[in-house]
Amino acid sequence: MKLLDMTKKYGKATYKYPLEPYEVSEGFRGKPSYTYDNCIGCTACGVACPSNAINVKLNEDKTKLVWEFDAARCIFCGRCDEVCPTGAIVLSQEFELAVKFDKNNLKERGELDVEYCEVCNKPFTTKRLISYILHRLEKVGWDKETLGEKVKYAKTCPTCKREEKVEVITKYLKRGTK
Ligand code: SF4
Ligand code: SF4
Repeated sequence: MKLLDMTKKYGKATYKYPLEPYEVSEGFRGKPSYTYDNCIGCTACGVACPSNAINVKLNEDKTKLVWEFDAARCIFCGRCDEVCPTGAIVLSQEFELAVKFDKNNLKERGELDVEYCEVCNKPFTTKRLISYILHRLEKVGWDKETLGEKVKYAKTCPTCKREEKVEVITKYLKRGTK
């Protein structure tokens, strides 16, 4: 009787899971869920992931940026969710991750087209990331003409941008010493 009274007072302490679905609490950190269409290939999640569950790298012939996730390595810290600028990866409430035979079922993968530097022609980011940046600039009020002028700059890799700047500064300094 005492036990029944306690159950009445405090609610159920056990569940019939797996015979009935188990509802996790709010804020539960389950398997990260990836939406390929929202991913811009910024690599922030790969850099932030402490357990190397996410890897973002160029494929062999450097034509695609490959995003890979291995749930077997995930520690559900939520860093990927925090840093993703587009909501392409968010922690879900999914916790039933066991696979029967093939551990590859724990893996996910996405491939994004790369953008080549307009100066040195080396791949340095993704086409989606460039579009994302230009779209954001348009949203904060940049007009089409100014944006058009900046496209070449956006499509130039950081190394070439640096070299261009060094060249300009060197020319300027040389002029000053004449
Ligand atoms: S939740 Fe943490 S460990 Fe899991 S993929 Fe995201 S950053 Fe990596
Ligand atoms: S942080 Fe988001 S947008 Fe960037 S690579 Fe990861 S999933 Fe894609």
